[in-house]
Amino acid sequence: MHSLDGKTAFITGSGSGIGRESAFLMAKSGAQVVVCERDEEAGRGTVDTIVDEGGTASLVVADVSDDAQMAEAVEATCRRHGGLHILFNNAGIFPDGDGSPVETPLDIWQWVIDVNLKGVFLGCKYGIPAMLESGGGSIINTASFVAVMGAATSQIAYTASKGGVLAMTREIAVEYARQGIRANALCPGPVRTPLLEEFLSDPAVKARRLVHIPMGRLAEAEEIANAVLFLASDTSSYVTGTTFLVDGGITASYVTPE
Ligand code: NAD
Repeated sequence: MHSLDGKTAFITGSGSGIGRESAFLMAKSGAQVVVCERDEEAGRGTVDTIVDEGGTASLVVADVSDDAQMAEAVEATCRRHGGLHILFNNAGIFPDGDGSPVETPLDIWQWVIDVNLKGVFLGCKYGIPAMLESGGGSIINTASFVAVMGAATSQIAYTASKGGVLAMTREIAVEYARQGIRANALCPGPVRTPLLEEFLSDPAVKARRLVHIPMGRLAEAEEIANAVLFLASDTSSYVTGTTFLVDGGITASYVTPE
């Protein structure tokens, strides 16, 4: 149903978690996948798995916050695969030290904004012209449910970066709608990936989080990847500019069931 035959997908941060599962799923659906990773070994692992299973994938090693590296990464994608149709700006960080506005050091603030927000901007800056030349396509920018809800356990730089991604994506969707590019902000709830596992290693912290999720559990990365596949494929041809929540009901709930 969600065929990606003939399409090339560029996925940042696809050496782990949501990005990796999305790379697997897109490759199985027929896309040529470009794994864009700062961690070469992790990126290589995703590429090797796809190729072992009969798919097509290649690796670009790049830091999404680096202008020249992102320009080169998109250029390499078009050179190797003949174009760009799906741009999944997924790479993101959630470092220790990101807390309340009073406590968060400026260098942590800047690092998070550089990767999570500037990284998405650079993906769009270089990806959009390539997509226009390829006849259009779909952009999926990863925000988070924290872009639409506040938490008392503050992570101020992360939350601000995701709010920026959400607003930026809406504007891109409007600006390019008549040129064949759709853009949606993916807003996952908490997902069981390395990014969150460390934070939730304390059972008390984990329990405090789970109580707010109507489904009472974290998402699996594959469940988020299924939503990404829908947004990437032509099945979602009339879906653009959305705040695409995949959150187990968090943002719908006021009081959760016992
Ligand atoms: P993850 O840590 O499992 O994977 C992230 C990948 O991005 C890693 O392989 C890492 O090497 C790569 N990366 C980090 N910085 C990079 C950079 N500067 N350049 C290139 N690659 C870089 O994370 P995940 O949980 O799969 O998260 C993916 C996205 O989903 C992030 O944007 C995250 O903020 C968002 N998100 C995650 C959750 C969650 O609960 N896990 C919830 C909402 C949103």
